[in-house]
Amino acid sequence: MHRFLAALLLLAGGAAAAAGYTGPLFDAHLHYNEEAWNGTAGPHPLADVLARMKRNGVRAIIGNSRPNDGTKALAASGETRAAGVTVVPFIRLYRNRADYDSWFRDETIYQMVQDELARGTAAGPFRGIGEFHLYDSANANGAVAAKLMKLAEEKDLAVLAHVDDVAVDLLMAHTPSKGQKLRLVWAHTGIGGAPAARVDQLMARYPHLMGELSYRPGLTCDGGKLCPEWRQLILKYPQRFMIGSDTWVNQRWLYYDELMQGYRTWLGDLPSDVARRIGWDNGATLFGLPKP
Ligand SMILES: [Zn+2]
Repeated sequence: MHRFLAALLLLAGGAAAAAGYTGPLFDAHLHYNEEAWNGTAGPHPLADVLARMKRNGVRAIIGNSRPNDGTKALAASGETRAAGVTVVPFIRLYRNRADYDSWFRDETIYQMVQDELARGTAAGPFRGIGEFHLYDSANANGAVAAKLMKLAEEKDLAVLAHVDDVAVDLLMAHTPSKGQKLRLVWAHTGIGGAPAARVDQLMARYPHLMGELSYRPGLTCDGGKLCPEWRQLILKYPQRFMIGSDTWVNQRWLYYDELMQGYRTWLGDLPSDVARRIGWDNGATLFGLPKP
């Protein structure tokens, strides 16, 4: 009898864990690029992407797109409000693919950022800059990259940066506070797999550094649960990590449900207050969003 009861309890516990985190999600890395929908045709019009967010409990996003029209369309649409999704708009630094390799020294990109800041979106002013990439960390010292980091801190804009750990230090060094004030969201928390100890060091050094966890190597292990060293790191800094979809190609839209379910699985294995922070609160706090 005891054995039977124990087995039953174990089963119930297993079922609860499998269900995962059920609260709201803040998608801190969402692109709505030209090839998803260019305003006239394309496989993922607004109704499609909003339906994907809604059925996955995604209640807010950091929205950015190449060019910025996709973000503006999301921000302006009544469909977005009807779906219960709050758009936190970011200025992407790319008008086209060629800009990926030169934005950090291109004065016309700096001017574009000024223009977009002045214009804003239907959902309010732009709240950040990015996502931008630095494939060579030395380019963090490009004149325009340096100016943009200074501007971000001065205008209280967040930054979404796909860079390595070396570039995090370089970018932070360009800010007036030497990185003590800038809200830098580290896309993928080091897609090249910076060791957990190095991530820990950067988190300790920069009080407003946030880690976004899409594509992070070594994050999850058996059963889609967090690997031990990442579980430890997230528990050490429960206010510093966020989840994201990174819909950089259309295929990511097709797998949006699986991506969000994957997050819910490992979030469900954390203490519930920590899961809620990573899933929602950290993003909401960063941008002052109300409770959903
Ligand atoms: Zn991305």
